[in-house]
Amino acid sequence: MADCLFCKIASGEIPSEIVFQDDQVTVFKDINPAAPVHLLVIPNKHIPSIQEMEEGDVELFGRLFLTAKQVAQQAGIADSGYRLIVNNGPDAHQEVLHVHMHILGGGAMKHPMG
Ligand code: AMP
Ligand code: ZN
Repeated sequence: MADCLFCKIASGEIPSEIVFQDDQVTVFKDINPAAPVHLLVIPNKHIPSIQEMEEGDVELFGRLFLTAKQVAQQAGIADSGYRLIVNNGPDAHQEVLHVHMHILGGGAMKHPMG
């Protein structure tokens, strides 16, 4: 999509610290890290949020998880653990309307449910 920040990151039009990319998925470092390791996993295809996910995207979303597993391994947080977060919509503070999975790790976190 023409005016989407994460589409531009996936295409290389806007520079970012890409740690993995293939024909379906891009992973890059979050510009404002909330943990020692903070990566964003995105589909290269523009899907604004989970609400726009369709039946044909099921395999692609499986790829997002498999890629998260692989880059967590690469980043050295596979054993210590990590959290995957997908913010969806205004109440969850989704700020970029291109679906993305946060990978947070590299230190113990508080439980999100308290
Ligand atoms: P969310 O609130 O779930 O939509 O998260 C959006 C994330 O994108 C935030 O953690 C931002 O720090 C991150 N972000 C925004 N712009 C950039 C950028 N140019 N490169 C990398 N990460 C970014
Ligand atoms: Zn996009």
